[in-house]
Amino acid sequence: MAELNPILRVAIPSPVRQTFDYLPPLACGQEVLLPGIRVKVPFGRTTAIGILIEVAAHSRVEQGRLKRALAVLDEQPLIPQDMLLLMLWASSYYHHPLGEVIFSALPPPLREGKPAEVKGISTWQISAAGLEADAKALTRAPRQAMLLSLLRANAQGLSAAALAAGNWRPALAALIAKGWVIERQAPCLGAVAGSADEAIPPLNEAQQQAVQAVLAAPGFQPFVLDGVTGSGKTEVYLRIIEQVIAAGRQALLLVPEIGLTPQLVQRFQSRFQVPLAVLHSNLSDQERLCAWLMARDGSAPIVIGTRSALFTPLHRPGVLIIDEEHDLSFKQQDGFRYHARDLAVIRAQRAQVPIVLGSATPSLETLGNVGEGRYQSLALPKRAGTAQPPLMSVLDVRHQPMEGNISQPFIEMIGQHVTRGEQVLLFLNRRGYAPVLLCHDCGWIAACKRCDARMVLYQAQRSLSLSRCHHCGAERPTEQRCPSCQSTSLVAIGQGTERVEEVLGKHFAAAGIVRIDRDSTRRKGSMQALLDGVHAGRSQILIGTQMLAKGHHLPNVTFVGIVDADQGLFGVDFRASERMAQLIVQVAGRAGRGAKPGQVVIQTHHPDHPLLYTLITQGYAAFAQAALLERRQAELPPYSHMALLRAEAVSAELPQAFLQQAYEQGRLLNNAHVQLSAPVAAPMERRAGRYRAQLLLQSQQRAPLQRFLSAWIAQIETLKMARKVRWSIDVDPMEMV
Ligand code: ADP
Ligand code: ZN
Ligand code: ZN
Repeated sequence: MAELNPILRVAIPSPVRQTFDYLPPLACGQEVLLPGIRVKVPFGRTTAIGILIEVAAHSRVEQGRLKRALAVLDEQPLIPQDMLLLMLWASSYYHHPLGEVIFSALPPPLREGKPAEVKGISTWQISAAGLEADAKALTRAPRQAMLLSLLRANAQGLSAAALAAGNWRPALAALIAKGWVIERQAPCLGAVAGSADEAIPPLNEAQQQAVQAVLAAPGFQPFVLDGVTGSGKTEVYLRIIEQVIAAGRQALLLVPEIGLTPQLVQRFQSRFQVPLAVLHSNLSDQERLCAWLMARDGSAPIVIGTRSALFTPLHRPGVLIIDEEHDLSFKQQDGFRYHARDLAVIRAQRAQVPIVLGSATPSLETLGNVGEGRYQSLALPKRAGTAQPPLMSVLDVRHQPMEGNISQPFIEMIGQHVTRGEQVLLFLNRRGYAPVLLCHDCGWIAACKRCDARMVLYQAQRSLSLSRCHHCGAERPTEQRCPSCQSTSLVAIGQGTERVEEVLGKHFAAAGIVRIDRDSTRRKGSMQALLDGVHAGRSQILIGTQMLAKGHHLPNVTFVGIVDADQGLFGVDFRASERMAQLIVQVAGRAGRGAKPGQVVIQTHHPDHPLLYTLITQGYAAFAQAALLERRQAELPPYSHMALLRAEAVSAELPQAFLQQAYEQGRLLNNAHVQLSAPVAAPMERRAGRYRAQLLLQSQQRAPLQRFLSAWIAQIETLKMARKVRWSIDVDPMEMV
């Protein structure tokens, strides 16, 4: 009889939807074989790093054919049990391969099998003694004096990379010897020394109630902090976190991609004298690893991050907070398509801690949950402090004289605010100069060669003009002559932010105009430089895309103009009007945040559009109730559940043929609770040279849809066609494109 070996069930980052069985490595003690450790295994013709999921007694593979793992890489589980279970849940709910789920959540050095430790990256910080030291004592040590003033100006500390070139080490050693500078071994953001001069406002009644409700939660409980812009939601988070960390627990705060600003981090740093683990896309591998480890071992009581930070292990979780929970950046749109907000609710439930979903414009999904009594709503109906809510109105631009898409009355209003020395913010969610280049003689339109999309025209000076595709990134010089009829009368149709800048430049050249969009802020630090000009009052007019919609506190902005509300009223996606309403309210929230009242004006050709009308006259809550009613009648989410099977290939026929086969197999499964729609081309069929098609599934309940997906995907995987296309499943899709 063969000796019975334990079987290692290992998840490996691979598109195959299964785990792999191995025998333990030779000379390996059984006691280290704990789920969550990394193992090195032979995989195909090479080796791979995998995560041990479980130790089993039997394998479906014959013992004789099982390969042996090569090495165990961790003595203790790298991934704690609770996170491993959450990842298993996510893999099963989103029907995505477990190995990819786990590995996409790990800092790169850990994926590569490197040890779970950081070799100290030193940072140097001014000490309390250093702050008070008399710099005159250093007149004969100019290098030390310079270093000291540099560190005083950067109280959060500087790393070697941030210090000037040259031989500064001896000077630094001298300052450390004097006790004026402290060396720290962590690249994570540390506490700021002695900056407790920030005034902490006393909470108003509504804020107090919200904080108390969350702190009184006996265990898991989802809350929706439904607070108008500027109502002090962040202050509520801060107070909750204060209590949570005082009780020795950790807080995890997720924010949208563009919400993780230096101002936000500073606000936390100056409030709490504790290490902060900040996880965002601009970290080096070592910094990311350090933040991850500090969160896991509990040495960082507060963890702040964007979407993927949801997977950061916490030693003693106390509360989860999702700021701007409606934001689309919480949904990953490729690869492992998870929704960090939804998974956060699951995580909080498993950890038995409260979760707070904050927003001035909660998603209809979340409001649906409030309506069903699953989430508890905490309202902050008024702005904090003395700021008044902005006054909203619609400007009917029909028959008005227009310059570009700016109407005459709009220009006059801007003029009034500028003359009074106030600031104006104009919002247009379209980058570039113009979205269409048209030949006036033959009707030719500049299109991307690889997408079903038009080229967006950049830069007003046509001789330097560039055209760019917003879908695949293709660029080319803008045609000066029509390629079809050789005519030179090419016209730019429609308006982007660059063109608005040009129009306003003609009227308000002296006011200082800045444009903030992805193009003008590509370089690191350029966003801050532009905003500095606004804060200093050098620029009175800001033009921007949704980058401007949130986070920025601009107290002197008294006028917010929405250049074009019509874009969102008639979108193909059933969520288009929800998104437009959220954007309008968020942008409007930038107005009148200081002492002076704010005015919001919305240009539209459809002043009587019912949704727009409800939004303007009765506010977001009324809009949301009306929109939810529509969703209920149309049986759309949140009153039904969707999944999308997508396929793409370089030919148009393959994805359609694959989906047709999948469709027929799905119908054979004959599940009365799941409706399959026939495959269709994606709304933008060709993108980056690939043809795309999709198949929509819908169900009244999640459970039958989940069961159906499991059975169906197993069948799809056996299709020959499945290997000829790139296909993916999107559960709870947020974008139908
Ligand atoms: P939100 O996150 O809802 O936009 P913030 O928490 O950033 O709001 O608060 C907006 C502004 O109001 C901030 O400058 C904040 O310091 C201030 N603030 C918050 N709560 C209060 C309060 N209770 N009293 C006075 N000012 C407050
Ligand atoms: Zn032409
Ligand atoms: Zn393109």
